Order: sequence, then structure tokens, then C-alpha cells
Amino acid sequence: MKAAVLRAPGAAVEITQVELDAPHAGEVEVRIAAAGVCHSDLHVVRGEWEVPTPVVLGHEGSGVVSQVGEGVTDLEVGDHVVMSFAFCGQCRTRTGQPVYCERWAGLNLFGGARADGSPTIHRNGDALHGHLFGQSSLATRALAPASSVVKVARNAPLEILGPLACGVQTGAQSVLTVLRPEPGSTLAVFGAGGVGLSAVIAAVHLTGATVAVVDVNPARLELATRLGAPTSSTRARTIRSMHWRRSPAAAASTARWRRPASRPCSARPSTSSPRGACAGSSARPRRTPTSR
Ligand SMILES: [Zn+2]
Ligand SMILES: [Zn+2]
Repeated sequence: MKAAVLRAPGAAVEITQVELDAPHAGEVEVRIAAAGVCHSDLHVVRGEWEVPTPVVLGHEGSGVVSQVGEGVTDLEVGDHVVMSFAFCGQCRTRTGQPVYCERWAGLNLFGGARADGSPTIHRNGDALHGHLFGQSSLATRALAPASSVVKVARNAPLEILGPLACGVQTGAQSVLTVLRPEPGSTLAVFGAGGVGLSAVIAAVHLTGATVAVVDVNPARLELATRLGAPTSSTRARTIRSMHWRRSPAAAASTARWRRPASRPCSARPSTSSPRGACAGSSARPRRTPTSR
């Protein structure tokens, strides 16, 4: 099969022939229909995260199940699926918080293999690193733990569903699960990329908050407006002056935006009101993502 292989940090990504292992117990093989390209892939390509190379990229995969491993009972060949990150199922993930798995970094970024250390992908007989976000889905086919694969309706458009697995749920759940803005409050979203706009969509349609968006790119702000955000600006100060006085609990949700990623909530003191809350969804270079 073909896959997008990064030979070393900073190198050009190559589309090349590789061999995929057969699914192990608890895994499925998915024939990939599409995969989003998320900023996390770019962190790996640029060497900003110390992911072992050579590695097969890709982590917002969608496709059709083509094989099921032993013990998989809730998926079958032909199912349409979206592939998300891996989690161990042993730690606090047993209580329904897979994103906070204590082994998340090893299973999804820095391990480069299954949890038991076995490689999923070879090239000319040599093991490549794979299992990126539990999948490495910039490829013709990919293996994934059945537990991190979600079945979708067969008439849903597979070619656009992949980002649900990472960027969309990151932005939406930052609002719906973490910040939970109250009706009448103001939510300021910093950064109107895929994650930020997903936060906007969730907030506009599923909360009673007023949504304000800050980004340095006017075209993105225009898109945010079309998605329902009533206020947008290229300046955080403007948002504050418009909303602070009448907003008892402004909440700032930030994507990586202009400032160093190690300070994702640095805009909060100048923007949110007393008792405002901030959730960061960016990641620190060279380190494990801390706030997904
Ligand atoms: Zn991602
Ligand atoms: Zn875990």
C-alpha cells in the first residue's frame, strides 16, 4: 500500500510503498477514504515534537473497515468509520475520559508502535514508526484499536468526516465539556482555524453564550461571522471593551495564536472578566500536549 512517510524531521514527506501488518486482537483495518491534515502533523514534520522517525503521518482518518481482528464484536467489514486517538482503557479512561489517558503520549505520539511495542508498518522488511494517534492514516489503509474507531452512517460523507476525530472535537469539547459557558456570558475564541471555528460552531448552536472571535486574519474572521459569531476583531482589546462590562463571566478559549504556544492563556488577563475562565487547546513544542 502507499503511505506518507516522514524520513526525518524537516525532510520532505514522501509517498512511498509500505507493508501493513495484519490486525491484532482488538484492532481493525480501515481502507482510508480521507484524512485531515492537522497542525499536529505539521508539528511532527517540523520536528517540534520528538516523534521517532521514519514515521507514517496522519491522524484524522475516515474510511471503511476492511478487516477485523480477534475479539472485535462491535464493528464489521464494510462499516463506515471515523478514527480517533488511542487510549489504554485501564486508567481514568475507564470512567469515560479517554482524552486524559495517562499513557496518551506514548500510545499516540512518542511510541511509534502498538502498546505492546510491535510495529504496524514495514518498508522493505524494515519496521517503520506508525500508530500515530493510534492510526497513521495518511495511507491507503491503516490499523487502529477498535476502541478508538467510531461507526458512522453509511450515507454520511466520509471524505469530510475525518477532522471530527481531532480538530472538531477538540474545539467543540473545549466549550461544551470544559468551559461550559452560561447563557448570557461571553465566550472569546482566540484563533479561528479549524479548532477555533469548531469552538465557535459549538458555542453558537449549543450554548446561550455570546461568541466573540479574535484572529489576525480578516478572512478567518469573516468565516467566523458566517458561522454565527456576532462579534469578531483582530484585537483582543476591542473584544474586552465591547463585552467586559456587561459580561459577568467571560470565558476565553484559545487556539495557538500569535503568542508562544507555551502561553496559550496569556491573553486571558487582558480580556476576560473577574472569575472568567480560560481553556487552552494548543500544544507545547517538543513536549506532550497538555491541555487537549
Ligand atoms: Zn489533530
Ligand atoms: Zn490510560
